[in-house]
Amino acid sequence: MSHLCIGVETMGNEIAEVMAGSLAEELELEPGDKLIKINGEDVKDILDYRFLMCDENVVMEIEKSSGEIWELDVDKDYDENLGVVFKESIMDKATRCSNNCIFCFIDQLPKGMRETLYFKDDDSRLSFLQGNFVTLTNLTDDDLDRIIKYKISPINISVHTTNPELRVKMLRNRFAGNINGRLKRLSEAGIEMNCQVVLCPGINDGDEFKRTCMDLFTFYPQVQNLAAVPIGLTKFREGLFELKLYDKESAAAEIRNADEMQKYFISKAGVRFVRLSDEFYLTAGIDIPAAGFYEGFHQLEDGVGITRSFRDNIEKAIGRLDKNLKGSFTLVTGDSAYKEITAFADMVRKANSSIDIEAVSIINNFFGESITVAGLVTGTDIIDQLSKRETGEYIIIPDTMLRKGYELGDEGNRVFLDDITVGEIEDTLNRKIIIADYTGEDIIDKINLYCEEVI
Ligand code: SF4
Repeated sequence: MSHLCIGVETMGNEIAEVMAGSLAEELELEPGDKLIKINGEDVKDILDYRFLMCDENVVMEIEKSSGEIWELDVDKDYDENLGVVFKESIMDKATRCSNNCIFCFIDQLPKGMRETLYFKDDDSRLSFLQGNFVTLTNLTDDDLDRIIKYKISPINISVHTTNPELRVKMLRNRFAGNINGRLKRLSEAGIEMNCQVVLCPGINDGDEFKRTCMDLFTFYPQVQNLAAVPIGLTKFREGLFELKLYDKESAAAEIRNADEMQKYFISKAGVRFVRLSDEFYLTAGIDIPAAGFYEGFHQLEDGVGITRSFRDNIEKAIGRLDKNLKGSFTLVTGDSAYKEITAFADMVRKANSSIDIEAVSIINNFFGESITVAGLVTGTDIIDQLSKRETGEYIIIPDTMLRKGYELGDEGNRVFLDDITVGEIEDTLNRKIIIADYTGEDIIDKINLYCEEVI
């Protein structure tokens, strides 16, 4: 059954938190109350809620936790929301993906991890709310109509290939081939889309990738851009489809392929449209392009341009480093960013020799050594590898190493992919962990904050 048809009995419409000073507080709503209807219409999920709340007068039906039904006639600003957190962020259960992709990372996770990590969502509402990527394979035509009616835009779409037969094979879903028709419908309705492909050597790269780029470009500017990330393979692939990783030559070939297409797109529309993630450049040993190449850095979430953005931001922010302070820090990263973070540590030491700072690359024993991105470093590997060496008084980790959804509350309770908490690492290593976003200014500000004054 399609996720968009699920009824209101899912409990997702239950209020978990009421914000101070909000409309909900004024209306005396409380945690445990349920929002049932707005203007006589069922509120099935967050899309209904957002759409129906856009009015200056709404009549809401609330089921109080006591079972009592309240009808509230409310005058408000047009786009004012209740100011509540619902039990489920999308007020419904997230839709499970109906694919069985040959490159799926979730299939390559070790056993025994937190159950939610194995959940494969593919939900357009999460794409809209949290930026998740969706494949559009589990939507009915009615679902598409609803996206169009509610103007859910932009949507992040995992395309992988526009070749219908190849897409069916890669996603191992016989319904996956109709991608071009779906993109066309969304495009004609004015829905903006950011697209992504996971490139697998010898499967959807080379000429197939060119075809995908060309097909997607026909939907420009509704399809705003295309990001390509390389396949990641963990050591837990027993019984799975045989795939290989990019090496120096194949990564360089794909960069040349993308360069050619970028030239064509610039000649047609003045934009590059397609870009490869930083991992391709690092694997190929080719320097990261200059900032102008990234045309506003809109694909950082895909790892496209992070290195350039970090390098440039640090150069601008290094002047903020306080020269009258001293301290000692260990910057934790994965192998792919190690060179960059080491260069940053050198810059800090050069700017203030009283600051002792070094970068440490954590080898990913948890998923396998071929996984080198910082975002997949686990707490287990940090504890294991840092406990065998000297570290600074403070250990700085990038925010991307921690799971999303646990940002509120005590930082010590934030969790790595393997469920290890920041607090556990602090206790085991007897060091304070500093979480930084590694974008530039933030990391300099955190160093200033945790340094001591030179006497
Ligand atoms: S869409 Fe493919 S890669 Fe994503 S969760 Fe589903 S099976 Fe895995």
